[in-house]
Amino acid sequence: MTRQTDQHFHLVERNIHEVCVDSRRMLFHIPSSSLFQLDDLSGELIDLFKKWPDRSHNEVLQDLQPRFEAIDISETFGELQSLEVISNGQPLTPETPQFRLNNFPLTTLVLNVNTGCNLSCSYCYKEDLTTPSKGEKMGLATAQQSIEMLLQESPDQPRYNLVFFGGEPLSNLPLIKQVVEYAEQRFADIGKKIDFSITTNATLLKDEVIDYLNQHRFGIAVSMDGPKAFHDRNRITVGGQGSYDVVAEKVRRLIQKYDSRPIGARVTLTKGITDILSIWDHLFNDLGFHEVGFAPVTSGDIDTYNLSKEELAQVFSNMKALGQHYLEAALQNKNIGFSNMHQLMTDIYEGNKKALPCGAGAGMVAIDKEGGVNLCHRFTGSEMPLFGNVEQGLNHEQLSRFLEQRMDRTHTGCNNCRIRNLCSGGCYHESYARYDDPTHPTYHYCDLLRDWVDFGIEVYSTIMAHNPVFFDTHISPRRAH
Ligand code: SF4
Ligand code: SF4
Repeated sequence: MTRQTDQHFHLVERNIHEVCVDSRRMLFHIPSSSLFQLDDLSGELIDLFKKWPDRSHNEVLQDLQPRFEAIDISETFGELQSLEVISNGQPLTPETPQFRLNNFPLTTLVLNVNTGCNLSCSYCYKEDLTTPSKGEKMGLATAQQSIEMLLQESPDQPRYNLVFFGGEPLSNLPLIKQVVEYAEQRFADIGKKIDFSITTNATLLKDEVIDYLNQHRFGIAVSMDGPKAFHDRNRITVGGQGSYDVVAEKVRRLIQKYDSRPIGARVTLTKGITDILSIWDHLFNDLGFHEVGFAPVTSGDIDTYNLSKEELAQVFSNMKALGQHYLEAALQNKNIGFSNMHQLMTDIYEGNKKALPCGAGAGMVAIDKEGGVNLCHRFTGSEMPLFGNVEQGLNHEQLSRFLEQRMDRTHTGCNNCRIRNLCSGGCYHESYARYDDPTHPTYHYCDLLRDWVDFGIEVYSTIMAHNPVFFDTHISPRRAH
């Protein structure tokens, strides 16, 4: 990189975040979500710019010589300049590229195969949820048309995903079987791969259903809230009975028989339920789930079930306590299946830089029973306008407008936030529920999230320093799968 020696440089504060781990100075490089350990020279150089915000290369050379060689100073100076940690005032490289919908080819469809559910969880957010008797099922023609729309929208992808969702999707197993048969044939004919997943409450998992899902290599996520005392507080039948006993029995059988893919538990944390350690312990150690992920509810429609501010802080504190277990296990090269932590480790390891918070509308859409296109499964049945339908395809203009608006961080608090490329403004549905506007960032727990990422940086640095092979063993193979 060429440099005029009298040009003045300054520190680009919005691009860096420093965390001290075991007396090592770690620099989290925000634009690339990457972590660097600062050596003495780069540390001093950064400190110099903190002290004198406007310094030329020559002045820096004078300041740091003779403790460091001129050639090393210039090299480090150049590296920090190319990372845009220091800048001469030139416009910075835009972090989010100019939006183009084509950059997010559609590969995943969530099919809402039945709005009905045989449980009646007290906190359920589903906008279109009904009891089993009133459940409205998706028809085969709509499901097939969804697949055709997927192929029409993105004909050139090597791999696609179909996710079955509800209500309780297994309450429309005949449709699932028909769709799987159709899709397997359709994608095989054109030399493409198709993966299936399902999110279920597990109550309808009989042996033959488990065998069927196993045969077709379904990715399975079971909604379960932990030990009986927690699970039965909200996950109840239509008649008001707790569902734990049935669910636990089915899950044990599922985990015993299922060998095609790991099985995950998805825990919903609502008012009064913050004991992450006992929940994880029960689901991972007693029941044998491979992964356990936690979803704190802060903006559900039913206000009484939302975690209070204090409870949310408790949730994050308990997530860190479980994160500590994750770290201890990782140092012995074991993965305790704490999905939230593992995802954060994966994001830092891979330098994931999210222009958008999730795949909703950008690679993934959810189809309701009538074939309407929704941003994701949480929007089906809501008042939010549709983004097309399976007959006519995606409404590109409307979807682009929405995603473009969300990607533009100017004039938002996210613009200079240090975790902007990991959080990216948060879940659209949470914003929709809380602010009635899915483009609004989820500002209500930013500090807790930032603290969680700092904790993740510490955990990551410690694993990297003491057992880096953990990442090769537990992250790379997952990606290759
Ligand atoms: S929502 Fe909050 S934590 Fe997330 S990027 Fe925006 S300011 Fe940061
Ligand atoms: S919008 Fe929210 S609920 Fe929907 S996929 Fe994204 S993160 Fe998940």
